[in-house]
Amino acid sequence: MFAIFKKLAWFFKLRWKTYALAIGGLTTCAILSAIIPLIIGGLVDSMATGTITWDHLIQQTGLLLGIGLLMYGLRYMWRSNLFGNSTLLEAIMRNRLFDHFTKMDQKLYGQYRTGDLMAHATNDLAALRFVAGGGIITLTDSLSITVVTLFSMIFIIDWQLTLFTILPFPLLIFVAQYLGKLINKYFRGSLKAFSDMNDHVQESVSGMKVIKAFGEEEEEEDYLDFVKETDNVVEKNKKVFRIDSAYTPVIDVITGLTYVLTIFFGTYFIQNGRITLGDLIAYLSYLGNMTWPLLAVGRLVNTMERGNASYDRVTDLLSEKASVVNDPNPVKNLEYNDLKVNINTFSYPDSEVEILSDIHFKLEEGDTLGIVGRTGSGKSSLFNLLVRNFDVESGEILIDNTPLNKIDMTELNDRVGYISQNNLLFSTTIRENIRFGRPNMTQEEVEYYAKVADVHEDILTFSDGYDTLVGERGVSLSGGQKQRISIARTLAMNPEILIMDDALSAVDAKTEQRILTNLREFCQKGITIIATHRLSSIMRADEILVLDNGHISERGTHERLLSLEGWYDNMFRQQQLDQKISESGEDNE
Ligand code: ATP
Ligand code: MG
Repeated sequence: MFAIFKKLAWFFKLRWKTYALAIGGLTTCAILSAIIPLIIGGLVDSMATGTITWDHLIQQTGLLLGIGLLMYGLRYMWRSNLFGNSTLLEAIMRNRLFDHFTKMDQKLYGQYRTGDLMAHATNDLAALRFVAGGGIITLTDSLSITVVTLFSMIFIIDWQLTLFTILPFPLLIFVAQYLGKLINKYFRGSLKAFSDMNDHVQESVSGMKVIKAFGEEEEEEDYLDFVKETDNVVEKNKKVFRIDSAYTPVIDVITGLTYVLTIFFGTYFIQNGRITLGDLIAYLSYLGNMTWPLLAVGRLVNTMERGNASYDRVTDLLSEKASVVNDPNPVKNLEYNDLKVNINTFSYPDSEVEILSDIHFKLEEGDTLGIVGRTGSGKSSLFNLLVRNFDVESGEILIDNTPLNKIDMTELNDRVGYISQNNLLFSTTIRENIRFGRPNMTQEEVEYYAKVADVHEDILTFSDGYDTLVGERGVSLSGGQKQRISIARTLAMNPEILIMDDALSAVDAKTEQRILTNLREFCQKGITIIATHRLSSIMRADEILVLDNGHISERGTHERLLSLEGWYDNMFRQQQLDQKISESGEDNE
């Protein structure tokens, strides 16, 4: 049960002063609260013997009042101290997690579900907060009250009475431990159920449009699945609470038993003259003081076990190593003049499937490379390697003859502009989206890049122009508008190597041609790599690779590929035909 304290030792060390202060306050409170029954007992005795005076009564009640006020002050002090600490712990762990999330590579996000990661960042951290705050309070409080009260019972009242009446207590410790283990087990189950449900919410909410499009049947099915999962969460939590609630009645029975024993032996000892009536009254009041710590131990077991489970989950996650890491002595300030790619084979981590094989090419300043191939042929996977989302294991990628994994990652991210297939915009204004990589850009600059990406005119049609909010709270952009804003965002970094992964799939052919013309001028000195399904957009590339199932099946210029009369030639004719048909359709309208 105390495992979690050991694990959190670093934090207690960090905040030892506040903890020492709080624990000191708590212990003083415990001692003060042990004085109260003695005062009352003394008063009862003087009443019983008829020796009580007004002065004595006023003095003693004044003392009671004073102690009460002092305890109030101390309680306030330790509470504010400890709760401050607990939120601090939560903040530290949250920052560590977030920092870790941003440092981790794609592999982690493939491995963990978003729902799991969210559960770590919310539930688990809350459980730790309880340990550092409520947990410590309960532990110190119950420990100091128990020690002080037991001490007073044994040494101030009577050791024999104490011996006979607290016999049932060891039973209690036994029960507490047993129930604690059960709670831990069920709590892990309930966390897992919560994770599953969280994941479902995440997926459904982000995919709700799609679900809607599939009609009522799918909605119904998704809903029923969700109900099953929430039922599971309820079921698992019920188990936790069932054990939790078994605890209190057990305590009641055990304390009830001690009261019975106390009345019996107490009366007997008074008759014997071993103790006075006042002693018995004080003793009963001590027993009352002991009940709270006993109940608290139950809550404590619960909090500690939860905290322990959560801490383990968070540290497991934090100990996940990124497989793609920056070199300890990274190479910086490269020119990005040439790119050599020699991939023998590539498989994704934890997978046997060979995704790419024998991909060799070389590009120099000003070159444009086109990459085409049917869906799933490995185009995006190749780009994943070029931007170092994953490392090549067999083979190498060189920029200016420096292996990619030796180049400073921040520089690489800056100098290699990658417009991915799933362009993601952030929930902020269009302006902020475009200058995301260079927040200090002026409005003129922002507009310049928007014009190159041919989206400036579109933006002007929105009522707030560049201030228009994107995303959930803002305007719904068309797929083509999103793509073009993503392009502007990447261009704004002035990358030396520009990679466009099917980045113009949602714009019409004419707009695409306009953007490509702009880009030719814009990227004159750099290297441009374009993957696309629309062959007309890479016709002018210096070289075109046709990927098939991860290897290069055809390569060369547009003219050469046509002369091969293979997949490319076939596809090109097909697309020309489609284009003509749709154009004639437009003419007839
Ligand atoms: P498209 O034209 O549809 O974009 P693509 O040519 O870009 O297709 P890739 O996305 O590179 O194709 O996919 C190639 C293969 O790699 C597919 O079989 C896919 O299932 C697999 N794959 C892609 N990403 C991952 C990943 N992160 N982990 C494991 N396998 C992956
Ligand atoms: Mg792709």
